[in-house]
Amino acid sequence: METKVYKIENINRDQKAIRAGAALIRQGQTVAFPTETVYGLGANALDGQAVNRIFKAKGRPNDNPLIVHIADPSHFEALAHDVSARVPLLVREFWPGPLTIILKKSPRVPPETTAGLDTVALRMPNHPIALSLIQESGTPIAAPSANRSGRPSPTTAQHVLDDLSGRIPMILDGITPCRVGLESTVLDMSGDIPTILRPGGITPGMLEKVLGHVKIDGAVLEPLDMRQAPRSPGMKYNHYSPRAHVIIYRGQALGAMVGEIKKIAAKYQYDGQKVGILATDETMDRYREGLVISLGSRREPAVLAANLFASLREFENRGVDVILAEWVDEREEGLAIMNRMVRAAGFHVVDIEKPVEHKTKGDKRK
Ligand code: AMP
Ligand code: MG
Repeated sequence: METKVYKIENINRDQKAIRAGAALIRQGQTVAFPTETVYGLGANALDGQAVNRIFKAKGRPNDNPLIVHIADPSHFEALAHDVSARVPLLVREFWPGPLTIILKKSPRVPPETTAGLDTVALRMPNHPIALSLIQESGTPIAAPSANRSGRPSPTTAQHVLDDLSGRIPMILDGITPCRVGLESTVLDMSGDIPTILRPGGITPGMLEKVLGHVKIDGAVLEPLDMRQAPRSPGMKYNHYSPRAHVIIYRGQALGAMVGEIKKIAAKYQYDGQKVGILATDETMDRYREGLVISLGSRREPAVLAANLFASLREFENRGVDVILAEWVDEREEGLAIMNRMVRAAGFHVVDIEKPVEHKTKGDKRK
């Protein structure tokens, strides 16, 4: 199958491309499109056969449910039931935006979309192309990230093409990279306690202002306990992995972290491996080893988030064998960054101790 790419520079002038995409969605085909988080691979959420095409193109396991995208905040009412009174507050505050809300599903949503669960994930994206495509299609659009399953999510049309060329009929190219750069926050509102299943652009602090206390699921920074059923099935799969081995170094002191990464980088280089270092503006000048990419300044976690997936793909395009990455503060937006990074690394995190000054009894210096 040929994958057509339509560039959309101006949403009004390029309506023809949106209409072509909407026609494909109505025919039960898939279309990749930009959102403010990452590119999505969409199909008619109410058509099980259409949704199956998404799973096939991505190579996604069938038991990993999809997020249903709507273009009007009130549309969630037709797709869910038993909705808590707090949900309209979240909708008012965060939609359109990077917040996905899990609710009890209406029978209108087919089991393919929710992977057989009795809940459905809903979001209204904040991107003119996504909203226009959904409106023009006249149906909610189920869309996971538009990457091959297990790979870093795409933040440009080129990333989508790199993964799915020949497997999908159309990509709507939004020209500028996705603004948030990480997938939406997934918040479970189907039970009594609001629970973050996946952190994203809407931070725990922002949610707590509306809801009071919010629980963070234990699987956010830790590997899943395989003896328990995961609350968010997507969490059990390999994720965000570039074609290079990723190792993360975690330490309190930046200097110690940089020192350890330099030492390990030199070792890998000695072994003939091409090393990439995922650094920050505060540290990048201290490295002399390998290919260094900075995610941005530690003072601007939103920028670090926006650059993460593109940087992982850049390393792989430059033929890097091993990526050594610095830990960044996991509070607020940092939680989403580290949630993706630890999965990209298959949970390979090395803890560096602060250098401790030992005073021994034999030390007689005055
Ligand atoms: P993706 O669209 O590829 O970013 O993945 C969607 C994420 O939302 C996955 O981690 C899913 O497990 C999660 N998700 C979707 N629907 C549900 C649901 N009904 N309950 C819990 N998690 C869900
Ligand atoms: Mg995904």
